[in-house]
Amino acid sequence: MINLDGKTALVTGSTSGIGLAVATGLVNAGANVILNGFGNAQEIENIRANIQDQSGREILYSPADMTKPDEISDMIETAKAKFGMIDILVNNAGIQHVSPIEDFPPEKWDAILAINLTSAFHTTRLCLADMKSTGWGRIINIASAHSLVASPFKSAYVAAKHGIAGLTKTVALESAEYGVTVNAISPGYVLTPLVEKQIPDTAKARSISEEDVKRDVLLAAQPTKKFVSVDEVTQSALFLCSSAADSITGTNLSIDGGWTAQ
Ligand code: NAD
Repeated sequence: MINLDGKTALVTGSTSGIGLAVATGLVNAGANVILNGFGNAQEIENIRANIQDQSGREILYSPADMTKPDEISDMIETAKAKFGMIDILVNNAGIQHVSPIEDFPPEKWDAILAINLTSAFHTTRLCLADMKSTGWGRIINIASAHSLVASPFKSAYVAAKHGIAGLTKTVALESAEYGVTVNAISPGYVLTPLVEKQIPDTAKARSISEEDVKRDVLLAAQPTKKFVSVDEVTQSALFLCSSAADSITGTNLSIDGGWTAQ
């Protein structure tokens, strides 16, 4: 098993779903972790305290809003003051909105681009210099099959995810000589709150039932006909942090049950 003792990881959007699973996996591998994201304050504190008690490591939580560059900057400064630097950055925070583009609310477009793409620009620009100076770093951008292919009614999400695929490649090239790898992980459908929330809207947009959305819309694209698990995503993130992945940079790793092979 990979040993990340002494490393510090920031996982944006880690109060639920994929981010929480990846953060927990990184802690179990020995890293200090900064959690981030929204939700019920008491539930988040319970999650933080649980991970802390089980690991014996101090786990920080930052409520920074990924639409706000100042809050992103404060979160990273706080993390650096506590742990010295961030060695592993997982840009995971994301939201979705499903609507035909003619009806797509401009404020939803702005929020999706800010959270799913621009926040990764800010975290990366604020963490990369330290990684380069120590000669080791890992940036993992949780993209999506939608970084490679499109689906109707998801204009902002598909645009943001294609954007993060491009950002991943660019930063990989800029940091390739410094021991820093930068990769995207692109899951297909994972049954997290993000997906559960879009089922009613998709049902409405397509005038079909929620069960039909699961079978005929979500898993229709996934040849395995199975949701991807958060554990599969976590294991891939841990692999990218290992020395076996030292030369893997600028890639976009699909975990999509064959979706983008079609
Ligand atoms: P989720 O809704 O369970 O988790 C999203 C996280 O982002 C939560 O912790 C939430 O609080 C946080 N977040 C939302 N807005 C925020 C903001 N303004 N500032 C800070 N944090 C914020 O969703 P998930 O499915 O675990 O998604 C995580 C990532 O995985 C997203 O980038 C998503 O696009 C990507 N992804 C998900 C799937 C899927 O099927 N679930 C597939 C491919 C990619």
